[in-house]
Amino acid sequence: MRSSSPDTLVIGGGIIGASIAWKLALAGLRVSLVDAGSVGGEASWAGAGMLAPGGEIVSREPWLDLALESMRLYPAFVAELQAATGVVIDYRVSGGIDVALDDEEWRALGARAERQRALGIASTVLDRQSLLDQAPLCRDRDYAGAVLYPDDTLVDPRDVMRALTIACRSAGVEIREGWRATSLHVSRGSVLVESPADSLHAPFAVLAAGAWSTGIAISGTTLPALPIAFPVKGLLISYPLEPGVLRPILRRGHTYLLQRATGIMIAGTTSEEVGFNRTVDEHSIDDVTARVGELLPWIRRHQPTAAWIGFRPAADSPGPVIHRAADTGLWLAYGHYRNGILLAPVTAKLVTEGILATRAPAAAHSFSS
Ligand SMILES: Cc1cc2nc3c(=O)[nH]c(=O)nc-3n(C[C@H](O)[C@H](O)[C@H](O)COP(=O)(O)OP(=O)(O)OC[C@H]3O[C@@H](n4cnc5c(N)ncnc54)[C@H](O)[C@@H]3O)c2cc1C
Repeated sequence: MRSSSPDTLVIGGGIIGASIAWKLALAGLRVSLVDAGSVGGEASWAGAGMLAPGGEIVSREPWLDLALESMRLYPAFVAELQAATGVVIDYRVSGGIDVALDDEEWRALGARAERQRALGIASTVLDRQSLLDQAPLCRDRDYAGAVLYPDDTLVDPRDVMRALTIACRSAGVEIREGWRATSLHVSRGSVLVESPADSLHAPFAVLAAGAWSTGIAISGTTLPALPIAFPVKGLLISYPLEPGVLRPILRRGHTYLLQRATGIMIAGTTSEEVGFNRTVDEHSIDDVTARVGELLPWIRRHQPTAAWIGFRPAADSPGPVIHRAADTGLWLAYGHYRNGILLAPVTAKLVTEGILATRAPAAAHSFSS
């Protein structure tokens, strides 16, 4: 652990901040990672872990290139984390199947898949037999159509967070939990970060506090107005089942089912703008239970045994906020919304390369992962 005068302060220990802290430390920087609660205790604990451009991206939007690049980086990211920590990460190219329940949905799904193919997101139409070969549990219902996205992948974000915490510590990152940043003061060559009890400063700071990022007061050198971060609450439920009953992700719009290697089946989700309201309400549980029952009638034979919520970090910007704030030492890495698990490797790469390039242009180099 290195505590005195870090080169970089990372504010927020979700998957975004922890990935950045790890990569910066591997590059030889002294890094302190502060979190108001515990590392990996918020959205990055709650997320489903679909790495699924097929389910998310439908046009040439700012998310597209980042998502495709992060998909490319993921296998090496996971392999490197596992090798560094010994943590086994549940990571699998499972494929994702979108189904349509009626002809109108099928026309829309077919048109969407065609547009996505032009963007570089591969998919194939499944006939009934091919659907049942991929997902035998679908036998209880006649679907109007189904599309397979063969590259869609699953990862358990809790495994990733466990591994990142160990990897950060062994790379020398100083981790301070229960350390809530309340203000940031940006001046030439330095960023001062204050908590109610303490303050830290460094030449560089990375603001990666998820949905809370712009609740921190920022002052000092004139900065452009930052995109506002805000929470979009989502609920997931789970069923303890035998492992191996559902291989691909099964989706219909934002209703989905997926199974972890442990057997836990996860079903989602809701989307509510209600601030940081942590209530896990019965109405949302019933809503998700009913929707996944419609998607896959077989699941109605089982009862969900757990439910939890998380705050997706949205931002009022067209894509995630990943850049340097003007020509200061402050870097922004928030607003990953529904795709922060997917976008962690590419965000860590961009921010790390950016900081190394501004710190010592002659020594700037690229990473392969
Ligand atoms: C129900 C649900 C399902 C999802 N499914 C998927 C999915 O399938 N695939 C996918 O890619 N993404 C998914 N997501 C989105 C994904 O979980 C998020 O985009 C991602 O976890 C964001 O990571 P983060 O590090 O930015 O934020 P967080 O994980 O929220 O981390 C932010 C951290 O900052 C800390 N913090 C807050 N305020 C301060 C402060 N003042 N000072 C210091 N620290 C502070 C918090 O304690 C927290 O640990 C899902 C999200 C939800 C809620």
